[in-house]
Amino acid sequence: MKAHDGMYIDGAWRPAAGTDTIEVVNPVDEQVIGRVPAGTAEDVDAAVRAARAAFPAWAATTPAERAARLAALRDILVARKDEIAETVTAELGSPLPFSQAVHAGVPIAVAGSYAELAATYAFEERVGNSTVYQEPVGVVGAITPWNYPLHQIVAKVAPALAAGCTVVLKPAEDTPLTAQLFAETVAEAGIPAGVFNLVTGLGPVAGQALAEHPDVDLVSFTGSTAVGKRIGATAGAAVKRVALELGGKSANVILPSADLAKAVGVGVANVMSNSGQTCSAWTRMLVHSARYDEAVELAAAAAEKYGDRIGPVVSAKQQARVRSYIDKGVTEGARLVAGGPESPREQGYFVSPTVFADVTPEMTIAQEEIFGPVLSIIRYEDEADALRIANGTVYGLAGAVWAGDEAEAVAFARRLDTGQVDINGGRFNPLAPFGGYKQSGVGRELGSHGLSEYLQTKSLQF
Ligand code: NAD
Repeated sequence: MKAHDGMYIDGAWRPAAGTDTIEVVNPVDEQVIGRVPAGTAEDVDAAVRAARAAFPAWAATTPAERAARLAALRDILVARKDEIAETVTAELGSPLPFSQAVHAGVPIAVAGSYAELAATYAFEERVGNSTVYQEPVGVVGAITPWNYPLHQIVAKVAPALAAGCTVVLKPAEDTPLTAQLFAETVAEAGIPAGVFNLVTGLGPVAGQALAEHPDVDLVSFTGSTAVGKRIGATAGAAVKRVALELGGKSANVILPSADLAKAVGVGVANVMSNSGQTCSAWTRMLVHSARYDEAVELAAAAAEKYGDRIGPVVSAKQQARVRSYIDKGVTEGARLVAGGPESPREQGYFVSPTVFADVTPEMTIAQEEIFGPVLSIIRYEDEADALRIANGTVYGLAGAVWAGDEAEAVAFARRLDTGQVDINGGRFNPLAPFGGYKQSGVGRELGSHGLSEYLQTKSLQF
């Protein structure tokens, strides 16, 4: 795999300040496939200075100019989509067809959506005797996780650039090669030097330096709730804007009138997708007691079919963490009906697609984010019980509701404390706001809501 040995700062690949490197490992065969520099506070400072210097000129471009650069970026992502998919597969381990369709396909759609939005968004409006301008916030520090390596980057960088902000990105240490490839596409798209900058490195070093940098105006973070809380506290102390996309423990509520086979089949597929490493995955399936046994049987059969075809999880650390949650589920009395803690292969960070039945709402596996291919099936007695269980975690990122009648599902969904709900298997919409209630985060990504995160208002009175 191609790896740059420098940082992309001010439009060029520059040597890192230090000599430490990070090994990039292929989770399928555990082989080292590349090394990238482990950035320091010095690298972050150089990148922030470049972003600050580039800000006035980029902020002064017209929306049409920014739209043209974003359209060029989208076209280059399209031209290089096979390379993107291969790179994500090499460092994340996801099967190639999934990398092509989702890891390469979704960022292309999102970049395209911001090319259009930059051209059409109302950056100026009249309100009575005022003109209200939407102005870019400034220099953005973007910190991203590994689970959707390119999507998480594009979901921040594209709206930031559309708004007229400049960016310093610190991507996840497990998937830096995709981020380096993205920096190449930014350069090819003719986006001016300093508008986008990349510093690879470890979270507690480069990530923390970026989050704490006094000349960063907005920190946009996607990752765990534990790190998000620290970043939120740091930003709060500096009176700095912050956007947090954090963890989830979403409920898939199957109401008694639903098509059970479909709801269970789609529900299992949702949890196993990307080896369970999806923040919005419906990891708790809620089923009425009258249909519980049937649902468990269907889910176990569906999970068994996946075998090791779902791909590994990202790292040995993540594999150990997921397996320890499976052990905990067994210890706390849940019933394993598919999978288990044993790895299905000797080599690689694989975890068996796992389904637990007889999970009660207070068990650890029903409360904490596992971030692996593990589904918990929970029984409810009536709608009030289902609602209490569905809303009974600290998270509120996503969810699903299934019912025979769409209006019935919508009525239930409106009572869920969560940022987005799929009704009877509704499709992903790259223009719909994405983000969490409660400890799943602050702010929204995607579409016009995502763009407004990077804007601040100024009103002039006449
Ligand atoms: P993580 O919090 O460990 O790391 C995320 C990023 O933060 C990485 O780039 C990491 O290097 C950096 N980081 C770590 N410590 C830091 C610190 N002290 N200061 C600054 N930066 C630091 O999360 P992860 O394990 O990489 O990702 C998985 C988590 O991300 C899950 O909890 C998942 O739910 C969440 N996630 C949320 C969304 C969403 O949109 N809500 C999307 C994807 C993933």
